[in-house]
Amino acid sequence: MGTETRPERADVGRVEEALENELVALRRELHRHPELAGNEARTAALVAERLRGAGLTVTTGVGGHGVVATVEGSEPGRTIAFRADVDAVPTDERPGLDFASEALGAAHLCGHDLHTAVGVGLGVVLARAAARGELAGRVVLIFQPAEEALAGARAMLDDGVLSVAGGAGIDEIHAYHCGPLPVGAVAVGPGYGFPGIDWFRVELTGDDAAARAAAVVAAVRRLGTVGFPDSDEAFERLAEELSVPDGPHATFVLTDADVDDRPGTAVVRGWFRAWPDSRYAELRAELGAVARDADARLTFDGEPFPGMVNAVEPSVAFGDHVRGAFGDAAVEVLHAAYPFNGEDFALFLHALPGAMHILGVANPAEGLNGVPHHPGFGADERAIAFGVEAMAGFLVARASG
Ligand SMILES: [Zn+2]
Repeated sequence: MGTETRPERADVGRVEEALENELVALRRELHRHPELAGNEARTAALVAERLRGAGLTVTTGVGGHGVVATVEGSEPGRTIAFRADVDAVPTDERPGLDFASEALGAAHLCGHDLHTAVGVGLGVVLARAAARGELAGRVVLIFQPAEEALAGARAMLDDGVLSVAGGAGIDEIHAYHCGPLPVGAVAVGPGYGFPGIDWFRVELTGDDAAARAAAVVAAVRRLGTVGFPDSDEAFERLAEELSVPDGPHATFVLTDADVDDRPGTAVVRGWFRAWPDSRYAELRAELGAVARDADARLTFDGEPFPGMVNAVEPSVAFGDHVRGAFGDAAVEVLHAAYPFNGEDFALFLHALPGAMHILGVANPAEGLNGVPHHPGFGADERAIAFGVEAMAGFLVARASG
């Protein structure tokens, strides 16, 4: 990862071997004891303990098990936040890891244990930087619960997370999500991010309800423009398509629906993910026509959950910073949203300028695919130290204005 050629800037966040070992141990501890959305008590306590140990001011119980820590600089400046999500996925893990999940039905298959370790690492190195007088402004570290339920960001915002940090408020926010890029690289997606989601339900009655429901499902599927890759080649093709400006997935609809039928009645449940968000109104109208043709009752689960859109300037600035510190090969630029996952960081980006960046955790030679939610998700833990080093200097630079 080009340690020898790293310029001064990256030294702000240097992660020495002892700290890297501690962060990897923390990640494995979290991995062994994953906690589902809303139940992150143990994780939150561990995070708070580590941050207090680093000398930071810590607030717990923000929007459930949310934890917020601030690093105060010695001179005035801006307030920049970094958000890490902490919850696990409601599924079992494939056996094999020597730090495998010890909880039934919960596993860190979305890499939030890595995000949390990066957040704690940032707390440690930024506290040191502040003590050396190298931080102007303030950095706020936000550890968010219940991302998988798309509930934690809303709960923290409703609980005033943006003012917990102090009177002046937060000027800008950044986050990572791990992904299938090589370890030692990041991806930025200025103007893109992750789609939102719109859930629907179509109810039919009558002797032929099952047949009409099947026609509704078929019509819904025809609205989709992208499908989940079914082979390694398809995955590679998608990755290439996402890095081409105005490529085939610059706008898309991903959808699925299933039918539950009994004699005389049938219920179709499904969802749309679409880019951009303006597409949902059109999809609702198109589905409305399908339901009318099928003489069915159509309902939606509230308003669509919004897509996560990275602000352009903060996204570009992070890419520039990482290029400057680690070289051009360390940064990939995405020109489309990744269709298969959503992110409730969307709500922070509705409130503040900022961006999420993809932190590469893949290492195919070691069998680590870095694909979030994949049943065989594996991550190269060197991404933790790299993630801290890449982000720490950037946060310091942004906070100094
Ligand atoms: Zn995730």
